[in-house]
Amino acid sequence: MKRKKFLQRSAAVIGSSLLPSFAFAKETGKKSLRFAHLTDMHLKPGLIPETGTAKALHHVQQLKPKVDFIINGGDAIMDSLGADKQNTEIQWNLFKGTLQRENSLPVYHCIGNHDIWGWFIKQDRPENDRLYGKVWVVETLEMKNRYYSFTKGNWHFIVLDSTQLNPAGGYIAKLDTGQLDWLQQELASAPAGKFICLVSHIPILSICAGLFFDKTESNGDLKIQRNLMHTDFIQLKKIFLKFPNIRVCISGHIHLQDEIDYLGIKYYCNGAVSGNWWKGAFQEFEPAYAIVELFDNGTSKRTMIKYEQTN
Ligand SMILES: [Zn+2]
Repeated sequence: MKRKKFLQRSAAVIGSSLLPSFAFAKETGKKSLRFAHLTDMHLKPGLIPETGTAKALHHVQQLKPKVDFIINGGDAIMDSLGADKQNTEIQWNLFKGTLQRENSLPVYHCIGNHDIWGWFIKQDRPENDRLYGKVWVVETLEMKNRYYSFTKGNWHFIVLDSTQLNPAGGYIAKLDTGQLDWLQQELASAPAGKFICLVSHIPILSICAGLFFDKTESNGDLKIQRNLMHTDFIQLKKIFLKFPNIRVCISGHIHLQDEIDYLGIKYYCNGAVSGNWWKGAFQEFEPAYAIVELFDNGTSKRTMIKYEQTN
């Protein structure tokens, strides 16, 4: 659908009274940075995913006051872990085209597990292809690297790459050794006086990671699977304790929402734009994205925003 028609319809459906307004910064009088965190868009060809993604992007751009930028939290496309080259190319072309047509805000990208190409392909040896693994997503989204940092206002952002291949099958949520070394250097050399916001696709700490399957083990244990929350959390926690300027960690991946305050850090797991992979709500959570406000005194506020997926 053409952008103009979309905007006309969006305006009709949303209406000005339903647009969220953010009075928080005004109330507290603290200068703030405000961005939208859109995670788990899982874009693929089809009326509902295409319409829904465009709707979410339009909704963000109509917010008053305006957001400064968007963070794409990963799983931008439905899946390329097990998809062939042709199918992966179709999904990336659709994602890039959608961003170009439907969005004019700056976007910072984070890699999700489903954005990685070929790890689950059993034949044709994709590992010999130049685009294997994370090369395709990094090149397509023109990322500086699979993990990187940037500074905005009083905050320094560190974007991580959570997903590591498990040689025994599947993937594990953790930082590889090189990335962990880089993170420690990055934390030690972050601009003086800035607060830090970490961005990861898979949560570093989350209770919804344990609720993903909506049940306990037969003995009553609540299990947090190694591909649903960072397995190196305890190691990371010890590092984080040395850097009290780390205040916020945001993530996606689980399609559920939670907010945890642990040892001086706010951990926000921010649902999914695609909800139940474009089939309505996932458990209790409707398709949504987050607005994150970061204040100059190191505090933060996360607001989940629902939007209408279809016309
Ligand atoms: Zn994911």
